Amino acid sequence: MDTLIVGAGFAGAVTARELAEAGERVLVIDKRPHIGGNAYDRLDADGVLVHEYGPHIFHTNSDRVFEYLSRFTAWRPYEHRVLAVPDARSGKAFPLPINRTTINRLYGLDLDEAGVAAFLERVREPKDPIRTSEDVVLNSVGRDLCEKFFRGYTRKQWGLDLSQLAGGVAARIPTRTNDDDRYFTDKYQAMPAEGYTKMFERLLDHPNITVRTSVEYRQIVSAADVRRTVFSGPIDEFYDHRFGRLPYRSLRFEHQHLKGMAQLQAVGTVNYPNDHPYTRITEFKHLTGQQHAGTSIVREIPSAEGDPYYPIPNPANEALFKRYEALAETESDVFFIGRLAQYRYYNMDQVVGAALGLAKKLVEGAAALA
Ligand code: FAD
Ligand code: UDP
Repeated sequence: MDTLIVGAGFAGAVTARELAEAGERVLVIDKRPHIGGNAYDRLDADGVLVHEYGPHIFHTNSDRVFEYLSRFTAWRPYEHRVLAVPDARSGKAFPLPINRTTINRLYGLDLDEAGVAAFLERVREPKDPIRTSEDVVLNSVGRDLCEKFFRGYTRKQWGLDLSQLAGGVAARIPTRTNDDDRYFTDKYQAMPAEGYTKMFERLLDHPNITVRTSVEYRQIVSAADVRRTVFSGPIDEFYDHRFGRLPYRSLRFEHQHLKGMAQLQAVGTVNYPNDHPYTRITEFKHLTGQQHAGTSIVREIPSAEGDPYYPIPNPANEALFKRYEALAETESDVFFIGRLAQYRYYNMDQVVGAALGLAKKLVEGAAALA
């Protein structure tokens, strides 16, 4: 084998495909019993297509990434919508991102776009500089909306206050003065027509690629006779936590099938910022368009313990990551790629873009040596 790739998620699978097409022989391992990483989907016991590790909605502005993945899947157009229920007792639901409807419904107003802009201008608390997620939210929507929609959700999701997280986290959620209630506004918004796992099967289906699941890197590293390694697991784990553990946030996924109920909620995801141990409920049939007499949902319960899912962006963690990154840069035959290895709050399309970039660098490097 030329290259060992650790992890069969987007980072590993895209890198593997690119190296294989350049003529290299590649071994892809994953410690989980399946491919796809966190994007893995499967039919549940009742035959509904569900995302094992929480809702994955594909969206990108990148022509290159969309065209690349389109080689391995057809698409089902899908625009994600989210409602937030700030008070579970009243059960009243409001569009998120905050938009004109949110403001009018919440405060019993009838503002037009200019009116909403003036309203936000009145309630916002300008911040300069904007560093933390609290700065971002207060600067755009002010205190009341912050408390209703952001502070509780963030505390639950991260175990931290908004003020302890880098601005980029809350900046993922825009504020709108119009009625656009889509969660994303990217040029491409679609779901793989037959699911993510099928797309990964095609990505990895190449004569130069061998895939072995349920294999942990440590188990095979000494026996693996490879020229180089591409690692997409947690970078601190690769280095035996030499500088201490990089914090990652985990989640527990509570899946449930509701027999005989065709639809539970009006949109794909409903957020519960201030009540319940879970942050949100996602109903998969909205995402996939599947027809079924029942429906399947997942609740996400954040936790400090468990598999790593999210890097936790703040200055202390980024400084610790930099120390690991400096070590990584001294390696000549190990490369780190993906959300856990690069400690970046990447969406799927960003991981695909990063993997295409790494593969290009590796192929060109190998060609220069030959
Ligand atoms: P992963 O998918 O985590 O793959 C890494 C793989 O490496 C894993 O399968 C792991 O088992 C394996 N591995 C790790 N260590 C080892 C080891 N030592 N030995 C062997 N194998 C190992 N992105 C979007 O664009 N849209 C969304 O809607 C979206 N929703 C999300 C919802 C949730 C709840 C989460 C957690 C993430 C979401 N994402 C979403 C982000 C998306 O999951 C990631 O961007 C993407 O899956 C990262 O791909 P990756 O290959 O870097 O990592
Ligand atoms: N967020 C929030 N309230 C919400 C939704 C999001 O406070 O109802 C904040 C929270 O800090 C969250 C971040 O915005 O972690 C990013 O939200 P996103 O939906 O992008 O998170 P992901 O889908 O990556 O879990």
